[in-house]
Amino acid sequence: MKTTTFNITGMHCASCVVMNEKSLKKVPGVTEASVNLPLKQATVTYDEAQATERDLHQAIKSAGYGVALSENQPEHADSSHLRQMEVAIAKSRSLVAIILAVPAAVVGMSGWSFGQELYGFELSMWLVAVLSLVIILYLGRQFHLGLLKEVRHLSPGMDTLISLGTLSALGYSVWAMTAGENDFYFETGAIITALILLGKFFEARSTGQASAAIAKLLELGAKTAHLIENGEEREVDIGAVKAGDVLLVKPGEKIPVDGRVVKGASSLDESMLTGESLPVDKKIGDDVFGATININGAIEMKATKVGANTVLAQIVKLVSDAQTKKAPIQKLADKISGIFVPIVLVIAAGTAIAWYLASGDVSTALINAVAVMVIACPCALGLATPTAIMVGTGLGAERGILIKNGEALEKGKKIDIMIFDKTGTLTVGKPTVTNIAPIGSMDETAVLQLAASLEKLSEHPLAQAVVKAAKEKNLSLSEVYEFQNLAGKGVKGIIDSVVITIGSPRLMKELGAATQAAEAMIQDLEAQAKTVVILARDNKIIGLIAIADTIKPDAKEAVAALNKQGIASAMITGDNRRTGEAIAKELGISQVLAEVLPQDKANEVKKLQSQGQKVAFIGDGINDAPALVQADLGIAMGTGTDIAMEAGNIVLVAGSPHKAVEALYLSRLTFKTIKQNLFWAFAYNAAAIPLAALGLLSPIIAAGAMAFSSTSVVLNSLRIKKRGARF
Ligand code: ADP
Ligand code: MG
Repeated sequence: MKTTTFNITGMHCASCVVMNEKSLKKVPGVTEASVNLPLKQATVTYDEAQATERDLHQAIKSAGYGVALSENQPEHADSSHLRQMEVAIAKSRSLVAIILAVPAAVVGMSGWSFGQELYGFELSMWLVAVLSLVIILYLGRQFHLGLLKEVRHLSPGMDTLISLGTLSALGYSVWAMTAGENDFYFETGAIITALILLGKFFEARSTGQASAAIAKLLELGAKTAHLIENGEEREVDIGAVKAGDVLLVKPGEKIPVDGRVVKGASSLDESMLTGESLPVDKKIGDDVFGATININGAIEMKATKVGANTVLAQIVKLVSDAQTKKAPIQKLADKISGIFVPIVLVIAAGTAIAWYLASGDVSTALINAVAVMVIACPCALGLATPTAIMVGTGLGAERGILIKNGEALEKGKKIDIMIFDKTGTLTVGKPTVTNIAPIGSMDETAVLQLAASLEKLSEHPLAQAVVKAAKEKNLSLSEVYEFQNLAGKGVKGIIDSVVITIGSPRLMKELGAATQAAEAMIQDLEAQAKTVVILARDNKIIGLIAIADTIKPDAKEAVAALNKQGIASAMITGDNRRTGEAIAKELGISQVLAEVLPQDKANEVKKLQSQGQKVAFIGDGINDAPALVQADLGIAMGTGTDIAMEAGNIVLVAGSPHKAVEALYLSRLTFKTIKQNLFWAFAYNAAAIPLAALGLLSPIIAAGAMAFSSTSVVLNSLRIKKRGARF
């Protein structure tokens, strides 16, 4: 199975999307095809054994559209250049149409007369007729060509409506001339064409703005790097940098690729990736990321990830994937537009017949039918969802919030409770040892030495804290045999032929170790929000180690913000209840799920869901994956290196809890915008049909309203940027 993305030319409406998708899905081996109107891209998943990329392109061509291939077919087909060209064409075409339509409208509607006749008609009428012919047939040719495509595929769409509308006005007028009637509607067809072309231009221009986020992200990367080889420095193209290369980054320059600092120290501005504005200090051994800016010191770094593996490339890929994928609500919109046009055609025909029977007047019958066709055009329907998703996901990316798909937006809108994982989400996840209390004959150093010997083999943050404390005291560690990890409880091993265990008070109870002697001290430390681990020798307690983690600076603010929005907060942890509650109290969280084993976190989510709650879960994307998937909305705290791997619907590039609140707000805002757009695009047109059928709406006003509706949809999507920025 392979997934490919390429650019399609010649698409301009919702029905083009449906036609191209249908055509692609007919190719044997294609399992999924999704076409994005504003991006003008197709994303197709197919079986390489059954189909080739050329078959896909052929399918697009046979549907009557074109495929634009860039020479070096980049990883993420970038269609921005193509779109710029289309905007330029739409601009000149609409401008010429308006310039020609103004005199046609003025002369045609005012009944102006030059007092000169030509072939039995007033000269002014000839002027209007010629101008209109040029506008309708030449400048508006895309609609008639579209009509031909749509008829060939038996799927009438927006072009059918506009083409039939303008051609009927034109055809009737020509017929009226030969029949000796003196009611002409040349200028009506011309004005409709000009207005719709103008609407298309506005639409193209603002759609370009909506999709600007990816182009902006791509521009972020550095173009060159200073490679250090054999002690000499030379400038190389960014594409030539390989993993393992040592690079020099001077103050004020961009970090060229992902890597690790090997010399020097500096502060970096990482806001372009994380959305967090505070500079981050970096010293030897710290990870740095491409596209971030080195503020003050000169550093040397060893490249670890280049090209498509860098965090920046992963962000671009995630965002562009999200933009090409279809939100569930969009599928519904596509379906509606597929059946909507045939219904409108029937209503238009009915209108014409009814008016003719009632008035006996062909021109009235025709003009009302034209108004129905023009006002009902579902042009904005194809833009309603994708433009909002583009702006929403683009704004998110700018702020370090990666929304993986439209579905996440739909789910984010109705959350009752947000469950925070404790370690690494609410706390920094870098705990330090605060107290060591021997129980019995050993001294502090001996307790620490023994504990660190065992913990050296564990990856747990608590273990790392213990090892670090021992290192600071330069203790030499003993050898461990038969090491065992007791997930969510502790660790166990044999040192000097004795079984040593270290873990939670609960584990000690399970082992039958008597903890009474230490109980008062444990409770006291836990009430101070410290985690107490107990060291046992042969199941007899020999010491306590208290470890404290720092709460993230914006965690409290995040809980308060959720509270204000009526969303409850809960904390989940494997830590003991007293420590959990002490931290929760500090943060203003009322619900604590403590002493939960890692594998049970998803069950806790399920439990809340079965009580009818919509649950968001926020945790680190690797350990908490099952809970993230189980939750209605999973938010993964980026661990900084492999964003694409993280589970969940939303990934936060940096680990700030407040970003989760922002993500919820952004998804709600985007979804609300989609709903408004669909209303403007559809309900409003549908409501105007009866007015047009009753003859209460002139076709010209209908055309203006239609052009306005598509433009307003795109502008409404762009408003997300402004409103989101205010958060
Ligand atoms: P969290 O929810 O904070 O990630 P875990 O489920 O990883 O917690 O661990 C729960 C508890 O198990 C810890 O609070 C600690 O008491 C004990 N524990 C787990 N691993 C270790 C270890 N390597 N050393 C000591 N104690 C441990
Ligand atoms: Mg954890």
